Amino acid sequence: MQDKLQKRRKWRLSKEKKHTRKSILAGVILFTFLCTGFCFISERVKEVNALGNLDAIPGTAVLPVSTETTPGAVSSPASIGQTPGAVSPPASIGQTPGAAKLPEDAQANPLETADEGAWNLKLVNQSHPLDSMEAPELKLLSNGLKFDTRAIGALEEMLAGAKNAGLSPIVCSAYRTYEKQKMLYENQVKNQQAKGLDLAAAQEKAKSVVAYPGTSEHNLGLAADIVPISYQLLDEKQADTDVAKWLAANCQEYGFILRYPKDKTEITGVIYEPWHFRYVGVEAAREIMKQGICLEEYLGGTAKK
Ligand SMILES: [Zn+2]
Repeated sequence: MQDKLQKRRKWRLSKEKKHTRKSILAGVILFTFLCTGFCFISERVKEVNALGNLDAIPGTAVLPVSTETTPGAVSSPASIGQTPGAVSPPASIGQTPGAAKLPEDAQANPLETADEGAWNLKLVNQSHPLDSMEAPELKLLSNGLKFDTRAIGALEEMLAGAKNAGLSPIVCSAYRTYEKQKMLYENQVKNQQAKGLDLAAAQEKAKSVVAYPGTSEHNLGLAADIVPISYQLLDEKQADTDVAKWLAANCQEYGFILRYPKDKTEITGVIYEPWHFRYVGVEAAREIMKQGICLEEYLGGTAKK
């Protein structure tokens, strides 16, 4: 009888052990599954955020073709600073220690050059696609977006200058890879096809709302879309914000230009974008902004492809 009882106890104990082992195994599997799921979701979130950082076409766009923009894309505060490695919130962009210099200091910026074939004067538009798909040397902004290493200091100084003026600018779009641009374009073609257009018509329509791969200044690493933290819609109302006004008045002192002015849309082929600033170097920037011309006019067709 006792033997029976002992056997039964042993049997129960081994059953409990098995059960515990099963529970642990199930826990491990569940944990692994959750981790994988989380990683996957994080990747998707990053992807979606990247898409959300594109320029938008204002509803009032009159140009038939705008290669710089994506319709309806709005940068939300949540989309900033969620990039891996980003440790600072959007408000801290440009808070490089000691970077807050007076515009006069920009005169001594060693980055600039007046050479028309220089990297800083590279023309990228519909008729001047990038000749190389090679990414420039890039550096991270404090929100995780990337910018050309040679010009990131000037961008940070400009942001610091705006902050010193009591403003809260954030960069919502900077460098984009060729592949990213290609994906955006191809997605747009699919969207248009889904609306009933045939392939040729869909491609034509897609080109009007998203830059064809290799023709976006964002592929160059020298363009940044800058908006106030309090108003991040990429529409014409941006022009009325304090940040846009300050940038339009001061950008040249940091080597930047308002790349797509309102009165130059026929030359640039891109709608008015009060948020899009392009680094060209202080000398060229001062000349361009003083004369109220666009980069195409400044380069006078002599720009190297
Ligand atoms: Zn832009």
